[in-house]
Amino acid sequence: MTGFDESEAFEAALPLSRRAMAARPAPYLDDLNPAQRAAVDALDGPVLMLAGAGTGKTKALTARIAHLLTTGRARPNEILAVTFTNKAAREMKDRVGRLLGEAVEGMPWMGTFHSISVKILRRHAELVGLKSNFTILDTDDQIRLMKQLIVAANIDEKRWPARMLAGLIDGWKNRALTPQKVPNSEAAAFNHRGTELYEQYQERLKTLNAVDFGDLLLHVLTIFQTHPDVLAQYQRWFRYILVDEYQDTNVAQYLWLRLLAQAHHNICCVGDDDQSIYGWRGAEVGNILRFEKDFPGATVIRLEQNYRSTPHILAAASGVIAANAGRLGKTLWTEVEDGHKVRLIGHWDGEEEARWIGEEVERLQKGTRDFRRMSLNDMAILVRASHQMRAFEDRFLTIGLPYRVIGGPRFYERLEVRDAMAYFRLAVSPDDDLAFERVVNTPKRGLGDKAQQTIQVIARQNGVTLAEAARILLAEGGISGKGAGQLRAFLDGIERWHQATLRPGQSHIELAETILEESGYTEMWQQDKTPEAPGRLENLKSLIEGLEEFDNLQGFLEHVSLIMDNDSEDAVEKVSIMTLHAAKGLEFPAVFLPGWEDGLFPSQRSMDESGLKGLEEERRLAYVGITRAEELCTISFAANRRVYGQWQSALPSRFIDELPGEHVEVLTPPGLYGGGFGAAGMAAGFGGGSTIEQKAAKADVYNSPGWKRMQARGAERPMAQPQEARNMVIDATAVSSFVLDDRVFHQKFGYGTVVGIEGDKLDVAFDKAGVKKIVARFVVGAAQADDVPF
Ligand code: ATP
Ligand code: MG
Repeated sequence: MTGFDESEAFEAALPLSRRAMAARPAPYLDDLNPAQRAAVDALDGPVLMLAGAGTGKTKALTARIAHLLTTGRARPNEILAVTFTNKAAREMKDRVGRLLGEAVEGMPWMGTFHSISVKILRRHAELVGLKSNFTILDTDDQIRLMKQLIVAANIDEKRWPARMLAGLIDGWKNRALTPQKVPNSEAAAFNHRGTELYEQYQERLKTLNAVDFGDLLLHVLTIFQTHPDVLAQYQRWFRYILVDEYQDTNVAQYLWLRLLAQAHHNICCVGDDDQSIYGWRGAEVGNILRFEKDFPGATVIRLEQNYRSTPHILAAASGVIAANAGRLGKTLWTEVEDGHKVRLIGHWDGEEEARWIGEEVERLQKGTRDFRRMSLNDMAILVRASHQMRAFEDRFLTIGLPYRVIGGPRFYERLEVRDAMAYFRLAVSPDDDLAFERVVNTPKRGLGDKAQQTIQVIARQNGVTLAEAARILLAEGGISGKGAGQLRAFLDGIERWHQATLRPGQSHIELAETILEESGYTEMWQQDKTPEAPGRLENLKSLIEGLEEFDNLQGFLEHVSLIMDNDSEDAVEKVSIMTLHAAKGLEFPAVFLPGWEDGLFPSQRSMDESGLKGLEEERRLAYVGITRAEELCTISFAANRRVYGQWQSALPSRFIDELPGEHVEVLTPPGLYGGGFGAAGMAAGFGGGSTIEQKAAKADVYNSPGWKRMQARGAERPMAQPQEARNMVIDATAVSSFVLDDRVFHQKFGYGTVVGIEGDKLDVAFDKAGVKKIVARFVVGAAQADDVPF
């Protein structure tokens, strides 16, 4: 009897191309270490890969997908691969393609929990009372809807804000609790009305044929739980399940996965308990620990070799995370040679920090004696809070450094910033039709589509600009009533602002504020009650502050348009700016971690809300941040920081105290820029380090000549109070410490003599650049400048 080899039968059933592929050697297996190889080989049954940062979890997961495809175990559409972002899914697909040597077609089930859930829900929407074309609400809509319900229920919205209800309901959804399932012990939530409002909210959504983010998962879960036939179908389809960043799954996601894997148990989860940073969104590290219970006999694989970072970086990260209690604990080692220590530097304020990082980025780009040349793509700035980004965006725009913001629009792409700039453009050139179109009815001036179209027609017929056409329309009486009056005021405004731009001595900063006020634009956002409005007003403030660096509005507009233009070329290398949360799973040769100050990082809010648990999550975030770096990691903090227009002084982050001193090099801050504010911060001094090394390291910073100079300078001047100033940025009450005829130095214009003083503004006759108006804190005394290493 001839032997029958099952695997032959299996192969024979495969299409030829797959058989050819299966016969090829598998090069993607060659560069895996034995533990990774084991994770890839264990194709069937549950696998848990639990390992520290940079140990190649994602790499092994990707190789596993390649292996499933190559061996013909699964077709592309039979693999469910959950990644943390859609971007990560695309990258993984590309990587699988590269491993296999051909593009992978049709992996529809590779994506985030949300993107995969949307697809499933569209197919079965009717099972939860929706139509398949349901809309997905964003946070704005969600909050608006809840507000309506709160008001209708006669609840005082001031005491019980919609945001609070939104947080509560999201929390329940993360825990897979429908209104009926919310435990009695939580009945007191939201003034005892929480569950009732939750139920009403779900009803409203159904009527609107809408879902919110949390529903995407919850509805699918409900379908799986109530329709075994549907569940069985997906269990058959998804023959292999893979999950990256498993430590950040919440209960709903966990149940969703468990149901799908229940039949075949072919589930492979990879994660790192030390990188769980979404507790605030309901992630449960405990899911990792439950895995072995739910899937008995699971192969548990630990990876310990780190391939990403130098030993100093690893040791610094391990030092910080060691302070957390209740970790699973693990050792990481690397074969990479020593490299650079983690660098630590303290700055006077956030602007100085941004300036310094900008210079460092440029230095690395050129390459120095100490550091190899790096592309801008190799560098990233990871911030704790998105408001930190602005200082970098501004600085980089000023020095013309291309950057990208990951996970949100860049500052100059924001709606309110573009609107405001359209106003500035009109002031500079009233015939800028695009700008005219953009703001002619923003704020609302009673000019409907029809009136706007008429203006367009008149312009075309007469070959004139839109502004001129609007005048013709008014003259001809083609528009009447309130609209006419408002249009006239708008046109007169443009003319007045334009004249002002031509007037010598006119401060462009004051003018910019006037424009936004007179046009009603600032007021429009002041009146706006949506949750975004305060942020938008902040951005406007900050836009105007950014004008300080320029001589006039035109210079500023040109600069921005040049930079934005350059940017559209995708090929351009760019430094990345993103939040620490968005940086999960990524890696960069050089990483900057600014803003390590108590209150900012660890975030005061997260400590207030969640106490020690919150602090530990912040610490894991620090661990994530440090371990993104391959070769160079630079941590910085500032003594003063402007947060939403207010100066705050701060102490260095307690995480700095936890960095092991022998792996840290303390740099001397370069100098004197940005004095004038925040003397209180300096006077307060800094908290003592807890370790001996750290105390020494801090002492180094505070004993450095640059730091002492800053301190002396800070003490000389009282802290200005910009928040009390008459308008947004011009502080007429601030007094400059300079007097007439003082010699000063400005980074861009060089040496000069003070010839006029007005509040905190100086007229300086520069030796080479002529007379300029300069905000006092942008110059230093010439004598001090001489010993600053520029
Ligand atoms: P994180 O926890 O940050 O998500 P990770 O464990 O997923 O990290 P990967 O991103 O997969 O780690 O790998 C980190 C780096 O190490 C990558 O550049 C990867 O290519 C490299 N790497 C992983 N395994 C190996 C290996 N066996 N040989 C060489 N390089 C490897
Ligand atoms: Mg990873």
